[in-house]
Amino acid sequence: MSAERYDAIVLGAGAAGLMCAALAGQRGRRVLLVDHAPEPGRKILISGGGRCNFTNVNATADRYISANPHFAKSALGRYTPRDFLALVERHGIAWHEKTLGQLFCDGSAREILAMLMAECAAGQVAFASGAPVSAIDHGDGLFRVRAGTVSAEAPALVLATGGPSIPKLGATGFAYDVARRFGLSVVEPRPALVPFTLGPEETLFRSLSGVSTDVEARCGKTAFREAALFTHRGLSGPAMLQISSYWRHRQPIAVDFLPDSATGWLIEAKRTRPRVTLRSALAAQLPDRLAEALADRLALAGELANLSDKALRAAEERLGGWSFTPSGTEGFAKAEVTVGGIATAGLSSQTMEARRVPGLYAIGEAVDVTGWLGGYNFQWAWASGWAAAQAI
Ligand SMILES: Cc1cc2nc3c(=O)[nH]c(=O)nc-3n(C[C@H](O)[C@H](O)[C@H](O)COP(=O)(O)OP(=O)(O)OC[C@H]3O[C@@H](n4cnc5c(N)ncnc54)[C@H](O)[C@@H]3O)c2cc1C
Repeated sequence: MSAERYDAIVLGAGAAGLMCAALAGQRGRRVLLVDHAPEPGRKILISGGGRCNFTNVNATADRYISANPHFAKSALGRYTPRDFLALVERHGIAWHEKTLGQLFCDGSAREILAMLMAECAAGQVAFASGAPVSAIDHGDGLFRVRAGTVSAEAPALVLATGGPSIPKLGATGFAYDVARRFGLSVVEPRPALVPFTLGPEETLFRSLSGVSTDVEARCGKTAFREAALFTHRGLSGPAMLQISSYWRHRQPIAVDFLPDSATGWLIEAKRTRPRVTLRSALAAQLPDRLAEALADRLALAGELANLSDKALRAAEERLGGWSFTPSGTEGFAKAEVTVGGIATAGLSSQTMEARRVPGLYAIGEAVDVTGWLGGYNFQWAWASGWAAAQAI
């Protein structure tokens, strides 16, 4: 089979691959975009509850997890949320800011995918979809790729096949295998932005399935102030998803159930409302079921007037740092993203090209750069895709 010649072959038609292919095509490069899935951009379609949280106005490198916290600075600084928003607006897509700088489509995530496909069409990007990559060879400065009946070669190969989160959507660790073959190292991939599971001893949390409340969740030095949701398997909600990206097995998580309460609030409540019970004092600030469960656990019965200041101080401390150790997470099957991936040490932060393998690039979630919840991961996909597209 004779190979068709391109300037670049991009593996993975997700957020990063579509962006990179479109921009390189528009710069006059002949680009082939290969994906084993029959349709491109499946994660885009389900993202943000179907509305795609396509960027975050606060997308700076400190909102990303990586073995090298500086690596993402260059790409994020050169292709910003404002740049992506300009593209969205050029395509007439209506959007809104939801909370914490998160930008969503008013309509549907389909609009973002349609926009990227239109940009690919403008760059005359060729697609090879629906067949697995069966071979990648490298020699004489060219990468040769076979996928189904397609055989292609190019001086540039871009790894944009993402991470292994949500395998039922076609996600794989393929990029890691290819990267290792070319001598790049891989930072241990772990499920991230993922719900926690709890062991049978965590009866407090397990009895509260369906309850949601605003908390501060802390793991080591990192803390997030957002909602937590108790589920029948454990804990979810933005605060828990965020902190899961920082969590390692057997580490405890501390939850502040009353992050807005001033120190000494319970003793103050005893002074101003001596006849109320602890449960009522808690119910004034927390969902009923949670207030009841916490009061039961603290085992301080009777009116506040009859409880010692020492006991109230201890209760307050416990409520401000309720420690538990998850038994695990719901794993890659439920993780929105993957922490870890292709080590940044082997890549140029300017171009995303492998330092030791000219012409090989890695972008998007495949790389060891993982954003917080809230549009940060797409912004990394766009920015890293943009950076590679300028170089190929
Ligand atoms: C449910 C859910 C909701 C999310 N919501 C948001 C959100 O609102 N905002 C946000 O910023 N992030 C969100 N994310 C994260 C975001 O989707 C990813 O970080 C982003 O899609 C990564 O882009 P990517 O191009 O690197 O990888 P992907 O988008 O995963 O694309 C990789 C592509 O490579 C293809 N591929 C994989 N393996 C192979 C192979 N072996 N051969 C050929 N092709 C292959 C896949 O089919 C896929 O098309 C969400 C994730 C999930 C799972």
